[in-house]
Formats: sequence, C-alpha cells, structure tokens
Amino acid sequence: MSHFQYQNGVLHADSVALPAIAEQFGTPTYVYSKSALLENFSAYSDACRGRDALVCYAMKANSNLAILDLLARAGAGFDIVSGGELLRVIAAGGDPGKTIFSGVGKTVEEMQLALEKGILCFNVESIPELHRLNDVAGSMGKRAPVSLRVNPNVDAKTHPYIATGLKANKFGVAFDDALATYRTAASLPNLDVVGIDCHIGSQLLDDAPLLEALDKLIELIDTLALEGIHVHHLDIGGGLGVNYGAEGDKPPVPVGDYLGRLFARIDAWRAEKYEGKPVKVIFEPGRSIVADTGVLLTKIEYLKPGVEKNFAIVDAAMNDLMRPTLYQAWMGVQPVSPREGAKLTYDVVGPVCESGDWLARERELAVEPGDLLAIMTAGAYGMTMASNYNTRGRAAEVIVDGDRVHVIRQRENPADLFALESMLK
Ligand SMILES: *Cc1c(COP(=O)(O)O)cnc(C)c1O
Repeated sequence: MSHFQYQNGVLHADSVALPAIAEQFGTPTYVYSKSALLENFSAYSDACRGRDALVCYAMKANSNLAILDLLARAGAGFDIVSGGELLRVIAAGGDPGKTIFSGVGKTVEEMQLALEKGILCFNVESIPELHRLNDVAGSMGKRAPVSLRVNPNVDAKTHPYIATGLKANKFGVAFDDALATYRTAASLPNLDVVGIDCHIGSQLLDDAPLLEALDKLIELIDTLALEGIHVHHLDIGGGLGVNYGAEGDKPPVPVGDYLGRLFARIDAWRAEKYEGKPVKVIFEPGRSIVADTGVLLTKIEYLKPGVEKNFAIVDAAMNDLMRPTLYQAWMGVQPVSPREGAKLTYDVVGPVCESGDWLARERELAVEPGDLLAIMTAGAYGMTMASNYNTRGRAAEVIVDGDRVHVIRQRENPADLFALESMLK
C-alpha cells in the first residue's frame, strides 16, 4: 500500500500532512517515507533469506546519505558508478566490502580509490578497462576482483534511453566476445576473476527478459567452467520497474515473484550441473527500492490560460525533476488538498526558460494559485538528476519517520551556487 494517502481530504506522507511540510520547509521539497523505503528493501531481503545473496542498491537512483545509511543498516550493499559515490557509501557508514563498481568510464583515480577501500568487485565493461585495472592494481601491489558485464542482447522492451542490454548500447561486453574477454581477464596477473554480471535496462515491468538474460549468463558460466574459469557470483543487475500510475499501465511483477522464479532456475541448474553447490547471487536494484518512497512537493505560482493549452506554473521545474523532459516520462500529479469544482486540463510546467520544462501534460485538475501539488513516485532519479540550471538552488529533502520529519538535505541557497566561481584578477 502506498505510504502517500489522503486522510481527511489532505494528502499525507505516512501520518504527516504534506501542507505542514510545505509550511515548515518550503517548496519545492522532496518528501520520502522511511517505512516505504525499508519495506521495499525487505521485499528483496526477504526473498533472499537463507541464501548467499547480496542486494547492492544502485545508489544513482537516490544517493542521499540518510537513504544510504538506512539501507546499509538494513544490510544493503551498494552498486556505484563513480568514485564520488564510493565516498558517499563510506560517509554514510556503508561497507566498501559490499560495494560493486559499475560503469564504462572508470578513471585511474577511481580505480585507485576503490582498490584502497577494498571494494567487493569491479564490474568491468571492456578489454581496455581490464588492462588499465590490471596496471593500476599492479602498481599498488594489489589484486583487483573483477566481474565482466556481459551484454546478453535481450530486448528489455523499455524506453530506448534506459535499455542497456542490446548490441547497439555502449554498455557491457558483447555476448559473442565474452569468452575471449574472460580469457584475457584470467591471463592478467593482477586480476582475480570472481563474477559475471549484466544489467539489461530499467523500468522493466515483466521479468521474462531478466530470466532470458539469466539463461544467457548460465550458459556462459558453464562454458567458462569447461575452460577452468570459475566464477563465484552471478549478478543479474537491477531494472525492475515500478507503477507510475498512468492509465492503462500494467503493474510491475512483484519482487518476490521475480526472485522466486530466478532462484528456482538457479537451483535447478546448480543441482543438475554442480551437485547443488550454490553460487552467490547479486542484485543491483535502484528504482524499485526508492521510486515510490518519495514525492516532489510543489506549489502553484500561477495559472495561465492559453489559446491551445492551460498552464499550471509551479515552483518546481525540470532542474528539480528531469524524468519527464528527459524520458518523456509520465508522472502522477495529485492535488494535496483537492477542491470541489470544475476541472480544467493543464500542463504542469516550471519557471525554467525552456519549452522542455514540463512536469506533466494534459492533466485534469481543479486548482487555484497557491495550491500544493505532489508529483508522485519521484523518489528515484529525481534529486540525483537535479541541476542548478537557471541558478536555481536544488530542493530540500526530508524524510518522514512515522509522525516525525527529518531534514536530510537543506535547500541550496543561491550564494552557494556560485561560491566556486571566480572573476579574472
Ligand atoms: C542504473 C543501474 C542499475 C539500477 O537500475 P534500476 O532500473 O534503477 O533498478 C543497476 N545496475 C547498473 C549497472 C546501473 O547502471
């Protein structure tokens, strides 16, 4: 059940009324629910109970320290894509030993940092990266644990910007090149081949492509074993979708159902080929952990009737929430205190000087200036993609814990935005 519900005609986050948050902290503000976050994580950890499995939260979805801390304490590892994210894991008290490092462009400095901190695994995406990592590890007198991100060439049937497992994508090693790339990895003196991984895309509503990718990984693990290359973990990536609530959207497969099917296949395969010896399984979920734990709370500044369209101009903008304009993503918009009266069709837009600055299009709303709106399911790829375009300070972030509200990121003030800049002497 959603943690954002109407009580006495007012939208709440758990037991806190959103107008009280707007009053105290201003708008726009991201509002998260701690219990929603922990429930989402539990869906994974419960399905993994009693198994050698690790849920590495893909923190680019939402990397606020408070979120990382709560997940670390619940047992999460982390999937990072930069050295900066590793520093966040450490600052939040997360365990580098449960952290895996993905991404196609790891720099020498990032590799050094990750080796120094002792991460669990580098998810390597190319042969040049293998050589660089081998050199960096050698120069530090260390061995680097590696997995190869294999591109299983399955169609995740999602938005082209978030499909990552096709031949045309920049990600991963092509399936047909994987064996040769593993041979190279195994031959390099400062690398330990420990795993195999993939990540085929995001916002997947069906687990069929994920299970298809699993079959491809299994096939490869068997081939590698015949060559004497034994991988100890299998990382199926993230990608499970959430319900954004658009009309006609089909709901995503429940986490427990997907993991149940996945483990059943893995168990059958291990029983058949490896005398039941288990393999460690790693997941890299991002969106499905955080998306529905947050809303973006915003205030209507103006209503602007137009010739072809009516606009509700709000104080949040594309710099706060990029998903609509970047992915043409549909996000739910709910009036915080719904009014009686005739509804009009509005585009909900921000103040940024771009026609692409919209948050929602063609929504039926009965609203007045000053009303609050909640942009729903905004906990993933919201704040982490926010920018300072138009010298707009980024939004505040708060988290609701029962009836208490904690600020987890203060609103940026404009002077901070140009503090690193300087003029010519
Ligand atoms: C972004 C990303 C994820 C998380 O994807 P979601 O769709 O948010 O679950 C996992 N693994 C890698 C390598 C990623 O880049």
